[in-house]
Amino acid sequence: SRKPRVVVADPLPRDGLALLHAHCEVVDAAGASPDILRRELLPTADALIVRSRVKVTADLIAAAPRLRVIGRAGVGVDNIDLDAATERGIVVVNVADGNTVAVAEHVFALLLALVRRLLPASASLREGRWERSRWVGEELRGKVMGLVGFGRIGQEVAQRARAFGMAVLAYDPYVPDARIRELGAEPAALDDLLARADVVSVHTPLTPATRNLIGEAALARMRPGAYLINTARGGIVDEQALYRALTEGRLAGAGLDVFATEPPGESPLLALPNVVATPHLGGSTREAQAYNARAVAEQVLRALQG
Ligand code: NAD
Repeated sequence: SRKPRVVVADPLPRDGLALLHAHCEVVDAAGASPDILRRELLPTADALIVRSRVKVTADLIAAAPRLRVIGRAGVGVDNIDLDAATERGIVVVNVADGNTVAVAEHVFALLLALVRRLLPASASLREGRWERSRWVGEELRGKVMGLVGFGRIGQEVAQRARAFGMAVLAYDPYVPDARIRELGAEPAALDDLLARADVVSVHTPLTPATRNLIGEAALARMRPGAYLINTARGGIVDEQALYRALTEGRLAGAGLDVFATEPPGESPLLALPNVVATPHLGGSTREAQAYNARAVAEQVLRALQG
C-alpha cells in the first residue's frame, strides 16, 4: 500500500524529518504560501505539520480531503482552526513541554541583562565610552523571586532562582501548597507575593482570569525598585499601566518576551532604557526545536497508524 504523504509546511529540524522519512513520503514545503498549500500540496496530503507561521484555516482544511492528522511542533494550537478539524475528524497533536527549560533560562537572560545594565553598558562601550561607575548593578543573591503561576516553567524558574541564592514565593491556586514547598518555594497569596518580591515573573496561561492580572493595582503593590519579567503571554500584563510604573520610576525595569499584540509595532515600552525586550524567543532554542520536531513526528506517525 501507498505510504502516507506528510506535508511539512514550516521548517522542521532534521531529527524530526528523519523519523518521518522512515515511514512516510515527506513533502518538505517549508515556507510554502497558503495558496500553494491549498492548490498543490494539501489535496493529496494525509498529514500536515506546522510550527506557528502557517495558519491552518478552515479554508486550508477544506482543501485537504485526505487529511487525517495535523501536527503542531510546539505547544499553542491557536494557529489551527480546531472546530474545522474536529468536524472532519482530523486529529490535532501538539508538543507540550519541549521548551520549558528554554523559557526558564530566558527568564534569567532577561533578568541578568536588567540587573547588570547589560544593554546600555554594552551600547555605551561600543560608542567608545568607558563608564564604570555609571552602570553599577545589583545581585540576585538574597533577593526574593515571586512566581505567578507554578506549572512546568514556573517550577524550572524556581530551581534556577534558588541556585542564584534567591528566596522563592509562588502563587498558583491550582498547585497544592505541599507541592510548592516540596520544590523549595513558599506558597503565597498574590497580593502578598507582589508586596514582597524583588522580581515578579509571570508563568500562567492567558485566560479570562489572568487577562490584565498584572494591571494598575497589581503593579502599584509591587516593591519600589522591583523588576517584572513576562515570558508567558502579552495580555496578562497591562502594557499601559506597566509603562506608567516604569516611567514614574516605581519599577526598576521590565523584561518582556511577549506582547499584547505581536509584533508590538511602535510600543512605547520598547523605547525605555529600563526595558529589555525580545521577539517571543523564550522557547526558541535549537534543543527545544529538535525535541519538538522529534516529538511531533512521533505523534503524527502514531496517529497515522492508529
Ligand atoms: P503550565 O500549564 O505547566 O503552567 C501554568 C500554571 O499556571 C499552572 O500551574 C496553572 O495552575 C497556573 N495558573 C492558571 N491560572 C492561574 C491563575 N489565574 N493564577 C495563577 N496561576 C494560574 O504551563 P507552562 O508550560 O509552565 O507555560 C506557562 C506560560 O508560558 C504559558 O502562558 C505559555 O503560553 C507560556 N510560554 C511561553 C513561551 C515563550 O516562548 N515565551 C514558550 C512556552 C510557553
